Amino acid sequence: MTARMDFLKENIRELKEQNLFIELPVLSTEQKNRVILNGKEVLMMCSNNYLGFANHPRLREAAKAAIDCWGYGAGAVRQIAGTMEVHIRLEEMLAEYKRTEASLVFVAGIAANRGTIQALMGEEDAIISDELNHGSIIDGVRLTKSKRMVYPHLDMDGLKKALLETKDTRRRLIVTDGVFSMDGDIAPLDRIVELAEEHDAMVMVDDAHGDGVLGKDGRGIVDHFGLEGRVDIDMGTLSKAFGSLGGYIAGRRELREYLINAARSFIFTTAHPPCVTAATMEALRMVQDEPEHLRRLWDNTRYFKKAMIDMGFDIGRSQTPITPVMAGESGTAMQLSRELFNEGLFAKPIVFPLVAKDKARIRIIVIAQHTREDLDEAIAIFERVGNRMKLI
Ligand SMILES: *Cc1c(COP(=O)(O)O)cnc(C)c1O
Repeated sequence: MTARMDFLKENIRELKEQNLFIELPVLSTEQKNRVILNGKEVLMMCSNNYLGFANHPRLREAAKAAIDCWGYGAGAVRQIAGTMEVHIRLEEMLAEYKRTEASLVFVAGIAANRGTIQALMGEEDAIISDELNHGSIIDGVRLTKSKRMVYPHLDMDGLKKALLETKDTRRRLIVTDGVFSMDGDIAPLDRIVELAEEHDAMVMVDDAHGDGVLGKDGRGIVDHFGLEGRVDIDMGTLSKAFGSLGGYIAGRRELREYLINAARSFIFTTAHPPCVTAATMEALRMVQDEPEHLRRLWDNTRYFKKAMIDMGFDIGRSQTPITPVMAGESGTAMQLSRELFNEGLFAKPIVFPLVAKDKARIRIIVIAQHTREDLDEAIAIFERVGNRMKLI
């Protein structure tokens, strides 16, 4: 390494001083309810593998069959020579599942948010965004020259004010997470859509944590609120509940056609390996023909949350499987995570700047694969550690 890169040492030292330096935890097993992580067997309690699809035999088999049929790589970007029939089939299937005219798959959810917002919004426009929206939405907004308005979390008066203040701009886009990733609360999408219709603004919802989790057969937040046909841009990810990889947008046919031509994060990147696409299609079939995974996810969520509340933990305002366990200062959250790990439970601390300085927490996501014994063991660990740390 040349001396020109020495500034990195200084940057890292600063991060360490502020307790913000992160190293990667490493799995030695597949992603499932119990894993070996950093060499220790632990209960996995913070993956996004809601339905347990990441290592499911049906997805494995679908991926293997696709490799035999299509080979491994796609070999080109989508616009040039990388689009295979499987890619088109998945997009048709997603549109049907989300009940929209069309859909378009991006390499990841972050790419879908960045590319879509960048392609649709110009200098004469305004983007109105909830203050707790995901970083990939914020990235998308930063890629535009649009006017930016941020309203307080879930505050519909704040949203209305922003709509009134921007009434003279060419086009407005309201963008919100469906399920907020750090707190597990749900955006009041019905109210947002009403306000948007009243003020003639477009609505984009990021359903990353609602896909496969909310609505009938896991169709997501639009189905949950019965808003079919009234949300302009339904964005989601294939990497969480669906256990695969990729992001997508669903909406009008012209939205798909335009994004193929204008979304830079779609244009300048190689298509998914066809085995990834085939496994995702299998996940969409599974969520519809094996409803027991979704049922178990919610049964497990209710069981675990009730036990946490009964023990006296503060689990915030969650309405979904995302369960924050509030610790207060970041040092306390980090200690909580360490002590849980020593007892055999893995959940990463979430600290500033991801959340406010005094709202540090660990974030638990219970999954369908957790057995009753897993959950009882987790609850017993929380009770021991909570008492020891005087959190309950
Ligand atoms: C995870 C997540 C994304 C990004 O999805 P990837 O497919 O992992 O890139 C986007 N938005 C939200 C709200 C998320 O939680």
